[in-house]
Amino acid sequence: MTCEEFDKEYDVVSRLMSDGLIEIPSSCSCCGGELSFVVERSQIHFRFNCGTCGSSVSIRDGTIFSGSRLKISQIIDLCRAWWKKRSLMEAADVGHTSVQSECSWFSNCRLMCSNWVELEAPQLGGPNKVVEIDEAAFGRRKYKLGRLKETVWVLGGVERSSRKVFLEIVRDRTARTIIPIIQKWVAPGTTNHDR
Ligand SMILES: [Zn+2]
Repeated sequence: MTCEEFDKEYDVVSRLMSDGLIEIPSSCSCCGGELSFVVERSQIHFRFNCGTCGSSVSIRDGTIFSGSRLKISQIIDLCRAWWKKRSLMEAADVGHTSVQSECSWFSNCRLMCSNWVELEAPQLGGPNKVVEIDEAAFGRRKYKLGRLKETVWVLGGVERSSRKVFLEIVRDRTARTIIPIIQKWVAPGTTNHDR
């Protein structure tokens, strides 16, 4: 590993720690002792060591970086490439990794975003706001010929004033399926327009 690679990794890790994306533990989880930040330059590894009981915790533990053999700076490069909608080949080049690693991190990025939408995305609408609700079928033709074979129904809504949207795949179009989804995405008191 070159000095340049180490410096880049150190800069990225310092930035993630100062931004709170890598948590700095206040004390040792085993004994409550004081922790010191340790850098293993030869293996480009960063950890916290307890001065009292000698236990050690990697900065990767409990983060998206745990379990990956890639450097943290490479992972950040891959996430940035995904964010900028780079192709897999381009991104693998930027992150100096394989297309296989790239595929796996692109998939992680998609998963993190969909989890965020699932847990954190605000509802549309509210009093005096209009949300237009519609549904659409997406299908795939077998061998690009003939009738649609697999039809997927998507329920969506658009808040008229802000153009904020929600989209969700539905297993069928019954009221039993659709009403809970609308209740999840659309705030009480909204005027719903079903197209
Ligand atoms: Zn300890």
